[in-house]
Amino acid sequence: TLLEARVQVATAELAEQNEKLRRQAIQLEQASAAKSQFLANMSHEFRTPLNAILGYTNMLLQGVSGELTPPQKRNLARIDSNGRHLLEVINEILDITRIEAGRMPLHLSDFGIAELLQEVMAEMDPIIARSKLTVTTHLGAKLPPVHSDRQKVKQVVLNLLSNALKFTHEGVVKVLAEYVPSTSMLTISVEDSGIGIDPAYQEKIFEDFQQVDSSPTRAYGGTGLGLSICRRLADMLGGRVSLQSTPGQGSTFTLHFPRRPRRT
Ligand code: ADP
Repeated sequence: TLLEARVQVATAELAEQNEKLRRQAIQLEQASAAKSQFLANMSHEFRTPLNAILGYTNMLLQGVSGELTPPQKRNLARIDSNGRHLLEVINEILDITRIEAGRMPLHLSDFGIAELLQEVMAEMDPIIARSKLTVTTHLGAKLPPVHSDRQKVKQVVLNLLSNALKFTHEGVVKVLAEYVPSTSMLTISVEDSGIGIDPAYQEKIFEDFQQVDSSPTRAYGGTGLGLSICRRLADMLGGRVSLQSTPGQGSTFTLHFPRRPRRT
């Protein structure tokens, strides 16, 4: 019948469309993988000479080639700080390309949150000691052992804590861990009493290279990549990072992740 003929034509057209879309998707995936590979190679190639530049700069700064005048020292210090900034950007781009290329696999193990936070505190201690801030840890009752990627959880918390310290001039920074039995999710929050974030930026700052202050004379330095890495890592853990902030009062960033990874 006419209707059957029409259905047949439409089905054939749909199949053709489908095949076209499938080919396009493969092409896009290949292009994206090539881009990630290029970025990874490039970052890697940049790192070696840059480490040499930083090494020689530090030798000069330490007076290995003779006593330096104050202006020479100042200029070398600028080379050093710009070089270190560049190295940070390169390392963070490498992290992102590794995640995107699936070359940062999950390493699951059983571990305790209390001990992980102790380790984070010990690592941040030199920075905390130099600040005017008090950092306190608060562990919820009955925190269960977790089965997740310890290194990735740690990297996210370190990042959130170093941001909290950077954007808070004085006061208290609290690190809080909780378990929500109804959802089997853990939350680790970093609460600061710092400069806060304008609502217009609260989603943007999780994107690559996005910072609230994008002026050339940025007051806080940084790369704008830390939170986008946190977002990707949280995603790998089967979780997310949320934010609550009031400008002028402070911010709370929270990592939410399942106690055990869910099967997909
Ligand atoms: P970076 O800190 O290197 O700039 P991030 O991706 O970690 O990169 O953060 C992006 C931006 O988000 C920061 O530049 C800052 O503007 C804002 N931000 C992040 N954490 C805080 C915080 N605790 N308080 C206020 N602003 C923050």
